[in-house]
Amino acid sequence: MKFIERLSWFFKDRWLSYTIAISLMTIVSLLSSIPPKLIGDTVDQIRLGQLTGDELRDTVLLLIGLSLLLYVLVYFWITTLFGNSALIEKVLRGRLLAQLTRMKPSFFQRNSTGQLMALATNDVLAIGQTAGYGVMTLVNTVVGASVVIVMMTFFVSFKLMIVALIPLPLLAFAISKLGGKIRIRFMAAQASFGKMNDHALESISGIRVIRSYVQENHDLAAFDKVTADVMDKNKKVSLLNAMFHPLISIIVGISYAISLGYGSYLVFQKEIMIGQLITFNIYLGMLIWPMIAFGEFINVLQRGTASADRLAEAFAEQSDVKDPEHPVNVDFPTSIELKHFGFTYPTANAASLTDVSFRLERGQTLGIVGRTGSGKSTLLKQLLRQYPVQSNELFLSETPIEQISLDVVKRWVAYVPQEHLLLSKSIRDNIALGKPNASPEEIAKAIEMASFTSDIAGMPEGLDTIVGENGVMLSGGQKQRLAIARALLIDSEILLLDDSLSAVDARTESRILHHIRLERAGKTTLISTHRLSAVSHSDWIIVLNDGRVIEEGTHEQLILFGGWYKEQWDRQQMEASLEE
Ligand code: ATP
Ligand code: MG
Repeated sequence: MKFIERLSWFFKDRWLSYTIAISLMTIVSLLSSIPPKLIGDTVDQIRLGQLTGDELRDTVLLLIGLSLLLYVLVYFWITTLFGNSALIEKVLRGRLLAQLTRMKPSFFQRNSTGQLMALATNDVLAIGQTAGYGVMTLVNTVVGASVVIVMMTFFVSFKLMIVALIPLPLLAFAISKLGGKIRIRFMAAQASFGKMNDHALESISGIRVIRSYVQENHDLAAFDKVTADVMDKNKKVSLLNAMFHPLISIIVGISYAISLGYGSYLVFQKEIMIGQLITFNIYLGMLIWPMIAFGEFINVLQRGTASADRLAEAFAEQSDVKDPEHPVNVDFPTSIELKHFGFTYPTANAASLTDVSFRLERGQTLGIVGRTGSGKSTLLKQLLRQYPVQSNELFLSETPIEQISLDVVKRWVAYVPQEHLLLSKSIRDNIALGKPNASPEEIAKAIEMASFTSDIAGMPEGLDTIVGENGVMLSGGQKQRLAIARALLIDSEILLLDDSLSAVDARTESRILHHIRLERAGKTTLISTHRLSAVSHSDWIIVLNDGRVIEEGTHEQLILFGGWYKEQWDRQQMEASLEE
């Protein structure tokens, strides 16, 4: 029972509700076995000519009373039991999201969004079904069948019961054969569903690119293939499911035949009465559902186990960046220092940073420049602790970063990524992401510093304008300035600007940088850029090439040095004057 093992915490927590539901179901089974007995007895009495009007009335009233009582009991066990399904789904979805928020980029490189969505939808649903419907079918099988078998023995004949149930082991054998296959096929169907999710997500988010390259039909055809695969895999699952029911009908049919044949013989031999034979046949009919339920149970359990396995795998993932066991207490970062820093992405073969060294005091600004792919973003990301670092190469306040607790570092750093990440909320909520309780004045100031004020005035609903998924209704430069306002609002110790002004014009850029210099005096800023004017005021500038520092110094020193920096600077100055 791997499923129970995996979800033992839940069953332990909900034992009372399960106990109540199972007790009620047992009572229902016991009560349901009374009417067949009453009917059989009545028939016998009729045959013997002993039935009185009073007795018949009492029996009829009893039958009606029983039905009403059963109605109430069934209502209660269903609501008790299936409440657990809904609850476990809710709990698991919450846990899954919490787990995902702990994961680092490498996890999301390995697990696509579609696969993770499949986990949160289909797999969680399958587990919920097992915890509700699965438990129901199990109890129906075990309790329902036991009660009927005991009643058959007690009220009719042990011999007849044994003979009539001879075909049953056949069923158990078939089910155990089919069960394993169902799980394998179900796993394949779920994986295929995840791929379809991926495709749908990509098609929707990339719709504009797809349209502009006139690839709609091509994309539709590709999607068609994926959905066909999902259909195919699900069909294969239902094919096996479909084999259960006819199988049960055959076996039950054989049982009826045996019971009628052998039962008549027993009546003839005067071992049982006709009424008992009737009772027995009704009981046999009552065994059909427990047998179907057994098939359903195996089915649901196999799916639930497959899904619980998939989910457990996701839960078992540990973040590859761990909190230090004995964190060193650092109040604020008085300096940032890299000593012969090297870094290789977990999935990459070659190093993205090699032997990078520099030191930045609190309040200074570092400029990071270099051609595309030289490692600028990679360098900034090191301060976000998204990847494990080599020990003793990156220091904050003379303390190796890996010895400072992750939360502390996170609180110091505000980051404006190169690719914009906006939520489909209002502009205000997007800006206040890092400080949800910011006052209107604080927000207005951050917006002003990011030179975003006049843009907002032009929006249909000002700060309350919803930006759409990933900011579809904003221009590139607006998205950048929104992201800058968001970072400036939290007034952090360290600000990372990753090419964050590339989409605004030169004048706006210099205005924003001027604001940042004024407002952030005494705080540390790291700026990566392709436009050198953005870093010319920096205290120190490093030029990266292929992950190595090839030039470094102040703007004046680098101009005097006459290398890549000076060449770029001259070219950009000339371009700027031509544009003027
Ligand atoms: P740009 O100016 O285009 O933004 P960059 O200087 O910021 O470039 P990086 O993004 O730091 O360059 O990339 C440096 C190198 O690391 C590149 O060769 C890139 O292919 C590689 N790289 C970047 N991100 C990853 C990743 N997640 N996994 C593996 N390799 C990566
Ligand atoms: Mg970059």
